[in-house]
Amino acid sequence: MLHDANVDPAEIDKFQSIASRWWDRESEFKPLHEINPLRVRYIERQAGGLAGKRVVDIGCGGGILAEALAEQGAQVTGIDMAELSLKVARLHLHESELKVDYQLITAEAFAEQHAAQFDIVTCLEMLEHVPDPAAIIDAAARLLKPGGCLVLSTLNRNPKSFALAILGAEYVLGLIPRGTHQYRRFIKPSEMAAQLRANGLAVRDISGISYNPLTRNYALGRDIDVNYLVTAVVDA
Ligand code: SAH
Repeated sequence: MLHDANVDPAEIDKFQSIASRWWDRESEFKPLHEINPLRVRYIERQAGGLAGKRVVDIGCGGGILAEALAEQGAQVTGIDMAELSLKVARLHLHESELKVDYQLITAEAFAEQHAAQFDIVTCLEMLEHVPDPAAIIDAAARLLKPGGCLVLSTLNRNPKSFALAILGAEYVLGLIPRGTHQYRRFIKPSEMAAQLRANGLAVRDISGISYNPLTRNYALGRDIDVNYLVTAVVDA
């Protein structure tokens, strides 16, 4: 299939090999669980509420974000290219008793089938794992209804992000497995903004997610040097 060119099998394998631990809050996925409430509040605020909204979560993994959005009343579809992660996500619905439609499909193929159907498109901590992030942004833009919003998050590319997101998180603190991230795939906010503009979207907000190793707390704020969230809307 043509679109599979934009899937890095090594990246998918990395996530599949630890897929059984998606819902273990003390596992490699601990940081995602810990930032999840912040992300959900951010998305809710940016989108002007979640109840009744149609959402597609691109790169949903085991469903940490997708379930939390469904819990707030959104009608959520989660897509990913790691079959094992989707299995874990579907199993977890039995426990949470929530409803999420999980599908093994690329963002590009999904966008061909569901153009302009979503109020909210989310794609968090995923772009830095694909060969061609621009193609994902293009697909995400096509999925949005007029007036909808796209929320992305990824890692910035600069010496500080290398020091904190790779050396600090992978080697010093051991928050996530070594080799999780490749520096060259990090994306500067300016590059992200240019790509969004190229797809008819305008950046409405950029916020940072930072980690305080002393208090072991995450917070949203102005520091976008390492991990950051972007909200983009259709440019009127
Ligand atoms: N978005 C989730 C998971 C982030 S981990 C969260 O923030 O909680 C990155 C996810 O991207 C993994 O589940 C991985 O399988 C997925 N992924 C990587 N490349 C992908 C691709 N080309 N298409 C779809 N999903 C992909």
